[in-house]
Amino acid sequence: MERKRVLITGAAGFLGSHLCDRFIKEDYHVIAMDNLITGRLKNIQHLMDLENFEFVQHDVSTFIKIEGKLDYILHFASPASPIDYLKIPIQTLKVGSLGIHNCLGLAKAKNATLMIASTSEVYGDPEVHPQTEDYWGHVNPIGPRGVYDEAKRFQEAMTMAYHTYHNLDTRIVRIFNTYGPRMRLNDGRVLPAFIGQALRGEDLTVFGDGSQTRSFCYVDDLVEGIYRLLHSDYHQPVNIGNPDEITIGDFAEEIIQLTGTTQKVIYKELPVNDPKQRRPDISRAKEVLGWEPQVDRAEGLKRTYEYFKGLSKEELNTKEHYNFDAFIKK
Ligand code: UDP
Repeated sequence: MERKRVLITGAAGFLGSHLCDRFIKEDYHVIAMDNLITGRLKNIQHLMDLENFEFVQHDVSTFIKIEGKLDYILHFASPASPIDYLKIPIQTLKVGSLGIHNCLGLAKAKNATLMIASTSEVYGDPEVHPQTEDYWGHVNPIGPRGVYDEAKRFQEAMTMAYHTYHNLDTRIVRIFNTYGPRMRLNDGRVLPAFIGQALRGEDLTVFGDGSQTRSFCYVDDLVEGIYRLLHSDYHQPVNIGNPDEITIGDFAEEIIQLTGTTQKVIYKELPVNDPKQRRPDISRAKEVLGWEPQVDRAEGLKRTYEYFKGLSKEELNTKEHYNFDAFIKK
């Protein structure tokens, strides 16, 4: 039987690389695309020699050319951490707008099913808690997070328009905070920040008073939810995340316990427009996909810590933020 062919954009990133693993495991032919600004080849190196895996270095904000048939496109390319999109705001806006337009055009030409990686950031600093899919959000379009939030909101609008007007088969997953192996140590996210600090013997930096909340989902659970959604026939947005909510202050304490560090917590200024609370309502995912998270935070953190402990001293101390050279050359 001929293999199904899937294009994954942002394939060398944290989530993209885990998706590549899953589709390879399911015996798909995977075309992995990334411009390697925030993604790293290291994340997919172990797949490179497989006959059903190919890597294409390309910026999806420019025209995408793929030979042969395509059954699925997963558009996961985008800077996704606040410090990334603060540093490369224009690229963030472009990949969420020009990038999705190119992916949609490709999907239409190939008659492929297209899924976009949307985000809990479409809800902004939410006034509804927990967040259900029918909440329209509370976003500051010109705030520092606006470049990401509005790009993702535009992406949803564009995807729905192609679904409605071109009858394209589409999926929208709204991803809440996710963690696991292959997160970039210096991507600025709270989990790699805290674990990196613990491993280097530095104090843990809590922004604000630490009372803001997040709900962290282990990456394997997220990938399972995405896989199920893709193979459903559901076109409305679906939240995928873990509803187990915790304050950032308590989370810092959990990381101190986990790592056994003797360092303390220090408090820094809260970034502008930092959402005060975030927790997914996952009733829809339960009902439509029969999905709910299986890995609790204690287990997920243990697995993630193992990964970070395995990094070399050099990696641990690198100041490398992302592949700035690749970005300059564009
Ligand atoms: N945060 C923190 N210390 C850090 C990094 C992040 O206290 O060193 C906070 C941040 O202000 C936010 C939360 O942790 O309230 C989650 O931040 P992250 O960047 O991981 O993702 P977000 O959910 O804000 O997109």
